[in-house]
Amino acid sequence: MTLEEFEAKFGESTDPADLDRANCTRGGTCGHSQCGLCEHGTPKFLKCEPCKADLAKYAEQLAALREAARFTDAHHVKAPRGR
Ligand SMILES: [Zn+2]
Ligand SMILES: [Zn+2]
Repeated sequence: MTLEEFEAKFGESTDPADLDRANCTRGGTCGHSQCGLCEHGTPKFLKCEPCKADLAKYAEQLAALREAARFTDAHHVKAPRGR
């Protein structure tokens, strides 16, 4: 995106690196964890409300899955040793 697009969407940029980070295509790789855009088109280093809501939902689902897995996880069942 251009600086104009960036500022129109996310307000005035105070750091010239903001635009670089938003346009960086190596987001998520080593040293670029805050680079790129999230699925909502918000730069990763900015707060994205839909992302935060998604994360909360995901954490809830994960907790429920973990709870269910406690009873089905094969590692919790000790196999009998045959001699
Ligand atoms: Zn980067
Ligand atoms: Zn988002």
